Amino acid sequence: MTSTRLPVADRRDVRRATWRLLSGDRRALTTVLALYCAAAAAGLAGPWIVGRIIDQVESGTTTSTIDVLAATACAFVITQVLFTRAARYAGHRFGERALARLRERFLDDVLDLPVATVEHAGTGDLMTRASSDVATVGNSARDALPEIFLGFVQMVFIAGALFVLDPILGLCALISLPALTLVTRWYLRRARDAYLAEGAANTELAEDLAATAEGARTVEILRMRAGRITGNDERIGAAFATRVRTLWLRSVLFPSIDIAHTLPVAATLLIGGALYLNDQVSLGTVAAATLYLWQLVEPINAVVMWIEALQAGSAAFARIEGVGKVPPATPPSGRVPHGDLLDIDDVHYAYHAGHDVLRGVSLSVRPGERLAIVGPSGAGKSTLGRLLAGIDAPSAGRITIGGVDATDLDATELRRRVALVTQDHHIFLGTLRDNLALAAPDADDARMFTALEAVGATWPADLPAGLDTMLGSGGMQPDASQSQQLALARLVLADPHTLILDEATSMLDPRAARDAERSLAAVLEGRTVIAIAHRLHTAHDADRVAVMENGVVTELGSHDELAAAGGTYASLWRSWHGG
Ligand code: ADP
Repeated sequence: MTSTRLPVADRRDVRRATWRLLSGDRRALTTVLALYCAAAAAGLAGPWIVGRIIDQVESGTTTSTIDVLAATACAFVITQVLFTRAARYAGHRFGERALARLRERFLDDVLDLPVATVEHAGTGDLMTRASSDVATVGNSARDALPEIFLGFVQMVFIAGALFVLDPILGLCALISLPALTLVTRWYLRRARDAYLAEGAANTELAEDLAATAEGARTVEILRMRAGRITGNDERIGAAFATRVRTLWLRSVLFPSIDIAHTLPVAATLLIGGALYLNDQVSLGTVAAATLYLWQLVEPINAVVMWIEALQAGSAAFARIEGVGKVPPATPPSGRVPHGDLLDIDDVHYAYHAGHDVLRGVSLSVRPGERLAIVGPSGAGKSTLGRLLAGIDAPSAGRITIGGVDATDLDATELRRRVALVTQDHHIFLGTLRDNLALAAPDADDARMFTALEAVGATWPADLPAGLDTMLGSGGMQPDASQSQQLALARLVLADPHTLILDEATSMLDPRAARDAERSLAAVLEGRTVIAIAHRLHTAHDADRVAVMENGVVTELGSHDELAAAGGTYASLWRSWHGG
């Protein structure tokens, strides 16, 4: 099956979703903001006080004044540490809560996905989004976002303080900002692809080496040595080239950041010195401005470093949001079926455009009828079953239940009417009762046991903990036939009007299968049953048999009629019965 990837949200949607996530908890966000601002403001006191001390010393003062100033500076440093700690704590809590909301919404989106979409996309894509993408967004929300945020707040506060101190010195602080922005953007635009290429080249090299080592004998016997060495050299060359590229990117970024830090300091000392000589600023002001500039180093570094992580986070977020962009299979029309007549009218279906798997199937199934569908493997029987259960819509033609298209019914209505049981069914981690209650949440124990008995499952009665026995890893592991019985028991509990059994008893041994089908038939008296059968006794017991070959129904009639007609069914029956 070709996988059609799930959609990815665009930038605008990601921005909107980010805002929704952040503003979902406004009070907490305001608290975090206020704490960060308080921390940044407290951090401003140190350099300013040092500047004042210098000025005081210059103009001659007492040691006790200096002591008071120094003690005040210490107090502010401690205050800053406390505020920063409180801000980080509140920020992390906020991040975790936002992440929890994101997870819940993601889960809702996943559960709303049309089954066919999940099947076409493959579960791998969804699993990656649910696990590593959510984790990446989590890291961003927990670490990158608060750090960048703190960095920005500090930068704004420090820049503001510089301007208040002296506007000209404030301007000096900004001189490297344009260049720094340009270099950072230049780097970020290339970094992602370069690092991805480096990772990919290393993976290829490692795989190539491993393949040569594992197949050493084959390499020797087939005299492939020279070829393998050349191939390896090429891969090493490719890996080397990608490595050089990432090194080159860093060799531009890091020195630029260093220069960006020193340039304003040099400018401030130079210009501040000139202003001091002209008596336009005090020595303390120049010193304070220089200290502020050194304080800028840390937030700038943090912002540059974490922006890359934030980019990865936003890519992952786009993939998570993308899941919510899948349109619902078909918006339910709200129409209510009249009766349970199942009508298949000239249905076509293709998994890949141009290759019809169903090529014009028409069939009416009366309520209460037992229809068996038989035919060679690959004829399209299971595909028809999926369409009947409303999982996929026909490419052409209609499937109606009581006059309403199967895919037009809303999910609960559809499940009440039609249920599909196939060979693969899942046992959910939980008790036997949990597993059965999926189908009928309000069923009592007696009903559950009756359902189990109806499908020939006697083993639950012997379980020491009965319906409270844990199933799945760590608990009782039902074997294939027990799992199948559970799936059938669920079906009995769900009690739909129409059930489609796609080799639903294939895991049971022939006798047990026949018993299960018979007892099911008794319980489901009056229900429509469409059984896709690989064992012909199912067909023998049915009211009518449809033979499917190559995407069309070629024979339709009762077992006796078809067996007598001498067609495909007759020969199938002869070989099955006689063989
Ligand atoms: P049957 O149940 O009669 O054995 P199926 O309905 O399973 O037949 O398959 C009919 C045809 O559709 C086969 O050629 C099969 O290869 C193809 N097919 C079945 N499932 C898929 C799928 N998920 N993607 C693509 N082709 C499929």
